[in-house]
Amino acid sequence: MPGKILVVNCGSSSIKYKLFDADSLTGVAGGLLERIGSRPAVLRHEVGGTVARSEVDVSSHRQGLEIILRVLLEAEPKAIGSLKEIVAIGHRVVHGGDTFFESTVVDDKVLEALRKWARLAPLHNPPNIAGIEAARSLLPSIPQVAVFDTAFHQTMPEIAYLYAIPYELYERFGIRRYGFHGTSHKYVAQKAAEILGEPIEKLRMITCHLGNGCSITAVKNGHSIDTSMGFTPLEGLVMGTRSGDIDPSIVFYLIGEGFSPREVEDLLNKKSGLLGVSGVSNDIRDVEKEAEAGSKRARLALEIFAYRAKKYIGAYAAVLGGLDALVFTGGIGENDPLMRGMICSNMGFLGLKIDEDANGATVGRTGVISSEQSKVKVLVIPTDEELAIAEETRKHLLNH
Ligand code: ADP
Repeated sequence: MPGKILVVNCGSSSIKYKLFDADSLTGVAGGLLERIGSRPAVLRHEVGGTVARSEVDVSSHRQGLEIILRVLLEAEPKAIGSLKEIVAIGHRVVHGGDTFFESTVVDDKVLEALRKWARLAPLHNPPNIAGIEAARSLLPSIPQVAVFDTAFHQTMPEIAYLYAIPYELYERFGIRRYGFHGTSHKYVAQKAAEILGEPIEKLRMITCHLGNGCSITAVKNGHSIDTSMGFTPLEGLVMGTRSGDIDPSIVFYLIGEGFSPREVEDLLNKKSGLLGVSGVSNDIRDVEKEAEAGSKRARLALEIFAYRAKKYIGAYAAVLGGLDALVFTGGIGENDPLMRGMICSNMGFLGLKIDEDANGATVGRTGVISSEQSKVKVLVIPTDEELAIAEETRKHLLNH
């Protein structure tokens, strides 16, 4: 297929982008525009190994996208000769609610649905929508494809996605588990099946996306059947700054002690997790250094992180009725043999055993880290959400 596919990921004050060759899906250029709305905003643009940083005046996502299109056209070496080369734009959209089971070409109706779900993702969907609207007005004749973090998890059964709270709250407010990181879980699950040479339809897998945000998914026959993030990305595993699972009564207790709801929200989202327990950092590398240097709280933060992940693996192995493969991805999953080792320790009862040498040697690349005898294959697979979005986007081009 001739032309290029542009993938954009709009955050509240940033736009991450990557341009792919539509045929080979190799990356051609990419970058990050940050601090939209501040003066100055900063653009880091990379093409053909050349990285350029510049300060730009950008007050909206529309202006940001205009600048990105301009640098793709004008920065040397030029990524595109004309805007006509861009045949589609793929947009990361965080919340598709229970409307979207898969990626979709955006039309007015889709935008209306996205606005509806913005209520549940007030930090994420509005910038995602702003990016789509900007792209539609700047390049009106090409398909805009929305790829949702929630879509892969729409196959979860009711027993996994319903909370045991009054059913009317689900009906009135849509309170249920949605799950996130779906694009990443789906991508690594498919890659794992390819690497194992087995049809995905026959595999029971657990995929662990461990980055700043962390989530874990039970994948049966290629479908997500349960995942640790819930109504919001706060539930589940211990994360860089998020608590993951807690007793909800802690919230009311703290409010009773004089914290405002906003302060509690902030505590659980931004001051908890690795940072909160260790008191050191949300970055696991710093926490590991401090633990190494003798900090008890840093060691505890790592142990709680590993323990929570282990609990979920046990729970999901039970839900799946056994386990064929465990997959690690995300900044920690891909790069941190120490944490992978801690999570996988004493899992012999599941038929899971790590090969220490393979684990230690597999950093930032794909590899199998289970021992020869391990019944459960353990894989490290670098995630590539932009590529996954480009693949999804191309699927829609081929269908049209
Ligand atoms: P995000 O969720 O923001 O995309 P990442 O997937 O980049 O985050 O993950 C960030 C986490 O990955 C941080 O805790 C960081 O310490 C960890 N990480 C990144 N590189 C390494 C590395 N080489 N060794 C250990 N941990 C790493």
